[in-house]
Amino acid sequence: MIRITDIIDKVTAYNPEADLHILDRAYVYSARVHDGQVRLSGEPYLSHPLEVAGILSDMKLDVISVVAGLLHDVIEDTHATSEEIKEMFGEEVLHIVSGVTKLSKIPFSDSHTREAESIRKMLLAMADDIRVVLIKLADRLHNMRTLQYQTEEKRIKIAQETLDIYSPIAARLGIYWIKQELENIAFMNIKPDEFLNIKNLVKKDQVDREKYVGTVKDFIRKKMDENNIKCEVLGRYKNYYSIYQKMINQNLSFEQIYDIIAFRIILDTVPQCYEALGLVHSLWKPIAHKFKDYIGFPKTNMYQSLHTTVVGPIGERIEIQIRTWEMDRIARSGIAAHWSYKEGKRIDENISKKFSWIQNLVENQHETKDPVEFIENVRLDLYPDEVYVFTPQGAVKSLPKGATPVDFAYLIHTEIGNQCSGAKVNGRMVPLNYELQTGNIVEIITSKGHNPSKDWLKFVKTVKARARIRQWIKTQDKDRSITLGREICEKAFRKERLNFTTLMKTEEMGRVVDQLGFKTLDDMIASVGYGKTTPIQIVRKFVSKPQEEEQDESILDKLIGRVKKKKPASGIIVKGFDDILIKFGKCCQAIPGDPITGYITQGYGVTVHRTNCANALKMNPERQIDVEWNMDSSDLYPVKIYITAYDRVGLLADITSNISKNASNILSANTITKENNAVDCFFTLTVKDTDHMKKILSDLKKTKQVTDAKRINE
Ligand code: MN
Repeated sequence: MIRITDIIDKVTAYNPEADLHILDRAYVYSARVHDGQVRLSGEPYLSHPLEVAGILSDMKLDVISVVAGLLHDVIEDTHATSEEIKEMFGEEVLHIVSGVTKLSKIPFSDSHTREAESIRKMLLAMADDIRVVLIKLADRLHNMRTLQYQTEEKRIKIAQETLDIYSPIAARLGIYWIKQELENIAFMNIKPDEFLNIKNLVKKDQVDREKYVGTVKDFIRKKMDENNIKCEVLGRYKNYYSIYQKMINQNLSFEQIYDIIAFRIILDTVPQCYEALGLVHSLWKPIAHKFKDYIGFPKTNMYQSLHTTVVGPIGERIEIQIRTWEMDRIARSGIAAHWSYKEGKRIDENISKKFSWIQNLVENQHETKDPVEFIENVRLDLYPDEVYVFTPQGAVKSLPKGATPVDFAYLIHTEIGNQCSGAKVNGRMVPLNYELQTGNIVEIITSKGHNPSKDWLKFVKTVKARARIRQWIKTQDKDRSITLGREICEKAFRKERLNFTTLMKTEEMGRVVDQLGFKTLDDMIASVGYGKTTPIQIVRKFVSKPQEEEQDESILDKLIGRVKKKKPASGIIVKGFDDILIKFGKCCQAIPGDPITGYITQGYGVTVHRTNCANALKMNPERQIDVEWNMDSSDLYPVKIYITAYDRVGLLADITSNISKNASNILSANTITKENNAVDCFFTLTVKDTDHMKKILSDLKKTKQVTDAKRINE
């Protein structure tokens, strides 16, 4: 078990000015509250926070991180309170410890693999201080190191979770030593046979291989010496898990994998790196397309290096990495290299500038030292357009930023979306247009018979929700018109002392459906509901006045036929219906270009209103239906306008000539002259559309002595 003095030694080694007093106090406090608790290994529980703090000091993190590591389990596992932590160790420590506690409560134990990516992103996005993630990684690393004390079932579960979630996060943050150790322990536990197999294969001809490593290193060193370049050459085995993955992914046998040893040349300066690369390529033939310049183009996790693969001394492939000492330090500790042990000191600006995504973080850290701001940048930079939320069962769902509970409901299931009547976030009721935040636990309340609302279209963000709501409305329109159509038919039939419901099931009705050109009875009834077919047309078929009927019918048919032929393209399109009766509300006088909406009127088809019409707003939304202007139509529409002017000779003549010049007819005119020589003129004109009207109004405004011209009910 590591001792606190060991940790203090490690911290002072890289940070001589560290506040050791707070470390001491954290140790004493952690020991006190964890007192009596025991790990599965039989060791006192305190060994765990101590080891975690030790790992954090291996990562050379700041004192606050190490302190938070000592305290990371106290809120969750002991009687310690947040207030106590804040009072004794300050807000920053509390903030980090609470963050770690929050993350450990994420219930993703039985998540599916395909969600792993979401969980990883969410962990990163949720931890509102990157040090929370670093502590979580250290915590996991120590738990993996002591995995042997768990049951087999638990070992496999924890190991798989480590491979799915934690080692990719370590890689994303560029902390490769943690990634490799996590992977190797996980591999050993999940696939013990394969692990042993590779371990033995690596061991088998270890002597030969070490000789070979020595030869390659000598070649490189000699070449560098000749050119007066000071360098260090390393040759080390790739970790067993990487070798295993390579064998699986590329379907290779162990013998076919040459590059199980990676060589690394470490130098002082960047120019030396490129020089060394040239020398290596002069020594051995490089393999085309295998060269990568991560110095010129660093990876997003700030990794920098030159990678090349060459054909080595015995005709085998050798992978070589070339980098500076500083790059090596960052490659090994990743983001942790930037999270300040250099409190109050400047990080090499040249380095930070190269890592564009981290640049803000580093600058913030210097200038504000504000962990909140720091993480804001991490969050924005990593995943700007996504939020991650939980189902009550703990599954993670990813949604676009701005998504609402309705989007979430449709993501789970169409029926849940359709019947969604309310939502709870973290246990509290929220409005359905609430903007979900990462980490929210979202619960949808459904009630049978509850239906989607058109209003939802105004705030949903996902394509799925939008499509499903539209689809529902469309089906609903038809259902609604069938109900309405039946009512109308029943009434009309009752007048003739007939029972529509009974007749519906007769063969006779089937023939009528055919005669009127409908596919199904429902289609015919719906057509009545929309006013396309009058109930009289149907009733006539059942009323026993054969002669008259025939005559009437033929006249009616002729009439209908003529009307249909003559009828110009209607100015309105009702989605899903081509031949529906249209009326315009007199209240608002919609003209093409106005936003409009339709209302189904019993027996009269659809009445069109402007969407902002006061009467329309009072209508039963159940009867509302989407309508559009038919831009191909050449119909003219009445519109009322209002002109104010000062009277003069010829004013009215100028106004009317202006109107007719614009190819508009005056349907009515009324003028009122007031005492102060002011005139109010009211006209009803015909116009093609809003553009046409605007042109007329603007021409009128230019008329001498006219002070204003506008549409009434604007
Ligand atoms: Mn822990």
